[in-house]
Amino acid sequence: MKIREILTAKRPTLSFEVFPPKKEDAFSSVEDTALAIASLKPDFMSVTYGAGGGTSRYTAEIASRIQEKKKIPAIAHLTCVSSTRQQVHAVLKELQEKGIENVLALRGDIPEDGIVSTDYRYASELVAEIREVAPSLCIGAACYPEGHPEASSVREDIARLKEKVDAGVDFITTQLFFDNEHFYHFLYHLREAGVTVPVLAGVMPVTKTVQLRRAARMAGATPPKRFLTLLDRYGDNPAAMEQAGIIYASEQLVDLIANHVNGVHIYTMNRPDVAEKILSHIRVLL
Ligand code: FAD
Repeated sequence: MKIREILTAKRPTLSFEVFPPKKEDAFSSVEDTALAIASLKPDFMSVTYGAGGGTSRYTAEIASRIQEKKKIPAIAHLTCVSSTRQQVHAVLKELQEKGIENVLALRGDIPEDGIVSTDYRYASELVAEIREVAPSLCIGAACYPEGHPEASSVREDIARLKEKVDAGVDFITTQLFFDNEHFYHFLYHLREAGVTVPVLAGVMPVTKTVQLRRAARMAGATPPKRFLTLLDRYGDNPAAMEQAGIIYASEQLVDLIANHVNGVHIYTMNRPDVAEKILSHIRVLL
């Protein structure tokens, strides 16, 4: 089923993100994890894609197992920063052969060696390409409530996002954020700029100190003082940090749902137990 149809029929939607294995020998344990998360019955699930090979091999396979074994619609991420046009076409063909109707079109992070594709510079080019060669696919894209780390300003980033959406995007999903006010301001400016597609709010339960450092560096998400207090108090106590992180994310979700968000998208970090605890806090609200 196409995500755009699910978003039209239901509000808010609940979706979970998982990542595929890096190596063949981890495939069956990651598949079990993804299926355990799918058993929580979200409206759909997304499966990430490694920009430079690696995990990209298994994205379509994990997505198709989720659909076949759990009957949960899946969206496969696809990056273009390190891919040729031919490789992108091959992935799109594989997705369609496996019955996957949804793709999250991404540029991907610039690799450390700086070597990038000569076929694509930005996700908007990938979106236009997918619309042309696989027009029946439902296309999602990424957005950044605090601005993409490379963008000179949020306003500039939103102007680029508008171009990407106009190239054929059906919905957008945000990078994680820790302060809902960032999301509400962003949404206001998006609508003002004429971006009208549904926006899914991405929330990550931070259960380990190391995750927060990575999130802040890679995603450009600024933790507010309230969150830093939890980190100060519980950062050295893994069990307490996990519980505090789950409660913090749950409170964010309660507020987002109360404010009529189109959908909430949870970065599960492949933790069915964490996804289940969060769901127990918001199940009735959904
Ligand atoms: P783009 O939309 O191309 O934007 C990248 C930058 O270029 C922005 O600063 C934008 O303002 C700027 N820009 C865009 N168009 C132009 C233009 N025409 N001229 C000048 N500047 C322009 N990464 C992975 O490797 N695998 C994944 O599975 C994955 N999943 C993700 C899921 C979500 C929901 C999100 C939010 C991110 C995900 N990422 C993933 C990370 C993502 O690949 C990086 O954030 C990447 O740096 C940007 O990708 P993008 O698709 O947003 O790029």
